Amino acid sequence: MKEEQSRKRRRGKHKKPQKTQPSLLPKHSTKLHKKTHQQKNPAHQSSSSSLKSSSFLDKMKARLAGGHFRMINEKLYTCTGKEALDYFKEDPELFDMYHAGYQEQMSHWPELPVNIIIKWLKERSSSLIVADFGCGDARVAKNVKNKVFSIDLVSNDPSVISCDMSNTPLRPSSVDVAVFCLSLMGTNYASYLKEACRVLKPSGWLLIAEVKSRFDPNNGGADPNMFSKAVCEMGFTSALKDFSNKMFVLLYFKKKENKSSNGREIEWPELKPCIYKRR
Ligand code: SAH
Repeated sequence: MKEEQSRKRRRGKHKKPQKTQPSLLPKHSTKLHKKTHQQKNPAHQSSSSSLKSSSFLDKMKARLAGGHFRMINEKLYTCTGKEALDYFKEDPELFDMYHAGYQEQMSHWPELPVNIIIKWLKERSSSLIVADFGCGDARVAKNVKNKVFSIDLVSNDPSVISCDMSNTPLRPSSVDVAVFCLSLMGTNYASYLKEACRVLKPSGWLLIAEVKSRFDPNNGGADPNMFSKAVCEMGFTSALKDFSNKMFVLLYFKKKENKSSNGREIEWPELKPCIYKRR
């Protein structure tokens, strides 16, 4: 809502909103982040005009970076985990670009779901073993005493396991808590949850935080009850459905002691991409 409003305001100011141009390939555009000759040598300009042009350049850079973030973000929501892994393997810089934009977006959220999950963990025994699926900057691992397996497509940190989370190197029934914080991005998201089910111990926790609009059936989002039913059919019971936050939903599940599969294929709802608007 807020995003929509701020977009309208900007549109009013600039009339023609710039589209993210597919021709602006992120790989090449990273060069734009480097200082230009003029910036390096401010003596070439009068101080006030250099100030003006540098703030203009900063604005342009921020706009470009925002465009790149939205392009990568859309890509991640519309491809499989395997495709996303190949995408980042080809150019790992894209991952940093994505995360810079992601942090910028998150800075506008009044409350971050990852902090709620950290709080949840801190209120429980630190002996619980955690797997953080799609860990990003590994904030969970950095803020709790528990043993945390941090998993993401790219690892900038030796403690992060880099892989597609539908196929992790974790042993079966080896973790107590599986976390998906804003990370059910791929079109094959069900395979991530199946992987979590495989690595979770019986009675283990599955904690999901997702962007609210993805579970808003009135706006093309998935039916949360259908999603919850699908997770339960995989061998879980629903433990919490919290829709109180404006930005995200929290869906917590507990793995059943004994998995009783009826052999029927599970019907997973489609989760629509979360497309961030220009700010
Ligand atoms: N959980 C973090 C980061 C969320 S951003 C937080 O709340 O701050 C979503 C993360 O999921 C990104 O870092 C992205 O790279 C990761 N991700 C998306 N699909 C993935 C996949 N198939 N395998 C591993 N990580 C994935």
